[in-house]
Amino acid sequence: MKPLKADLHCHSTVSDGLLTPAELVRRAGENGVELLSLTDHDELDGLSAARAEAARIGLEFTNGVEISVSWGDDQTVHIIGLGFDEAFASLVDGVVNVRAGRDSRAQHIAAELEKVGIHGAYEGALRYAGNPALISRAHFARYIVELRHAKDVTSVFDWWLAKGKPGYVSHPWATLEDALSWINGAGGLAVIAHPGRYRLTRAELAHLYERFKDLGGVGIEVVSGSPTDDEVRECARVARHYGFLASRGSDFHGPGESRVDLGRLADLPEDLTPVWTRLR
Ligand code: AMP
Ligand code: MN
Ligand code: MN
Ligand code: MN
Repeated sequence: MKPLKADLHCHSTVSDGLLTPAELVRRAGENGVELLSLTDHDELDGLSAARAEAARIGLEFTNGVEISVSWGDDQTVHIIGLGFDEAFASLVDGVVNVRAGRDSRAQHIAAELEKVGIHGAYEGALRYAGNPALISRAHFARYIVELRHAKDVTSVFDWWLAKGKPGYVSHPWATLEDALSWINGAGGLAVIAHPGRYRLTRAELAHLYERFKDLGGVGIEVVSGSPTDDEVRECARVARHYGFLASRGSDFHGPGESRVDLGRLADLPEDLTPVWTRLR
């Protein structure tokens, strides 16, 4: 059987993406995506517009969200929820509460950036985000590129925004327990996003996988963005070891900013069970 062209991880203007939900859906359709999920950060507001546009162009769509979770000693991990009921009250309220901390965090980030000579960053980032509850480091990064302090968004993270850099501010996101209870309560499937990106030791990662599984997590992204062969092999090993379903998502944020376009992803290793077998 031909592998399904699924892309179950991307962002719109409803969080830190550059395209509106409808534009994103049309681009996915043009790129040959057959099953799409929109997974904005801690935000469900784009789902109805995306679903309507997907229905209009005949593209299969499933609800998605990417929840920011604090884990261990000031680490952040991202948990994707898929195929849930977007009206489920504790999920809706839960992500509202996660977002509520973004504005004060952004003011704190701007104060730290001010100390290293980057001025007006709160107002600058807000201009990109449009809404204080949505301000993410990606919006700061765009403003810093605009100021020509860095050549692109990735360099901004390397110099200023990644953990250990001057503009990094530690922040309490959701707990793993909460994120899993919201997603599972809403009838969705929980998936660990881009496992290759966390700066966790092997033992810490193993602890995350075990706890996630205990809490009812079922999946892991095996192909995310543009992983190396080694990263795919390692995620596939984890999927087999823990019996996780495998997901595939570009983490597309916008043309010119993301290296991987919607749907332009390697296929999952054939022996793994794709998460969409439980979504369709
Ligand atoms: P936040 O949720 O505010 O901490 O922002 C995290 C977002 O910043 C991610 O979802 C990405 O969009 C972006 N991001 C994080 N690290 C990098 C990086 N190294 N290069 C480019 N974008 C990044
Ligand atoms: Mn993002
Ligand atoms: Mn993420
Ligand atoms: Mn993402």
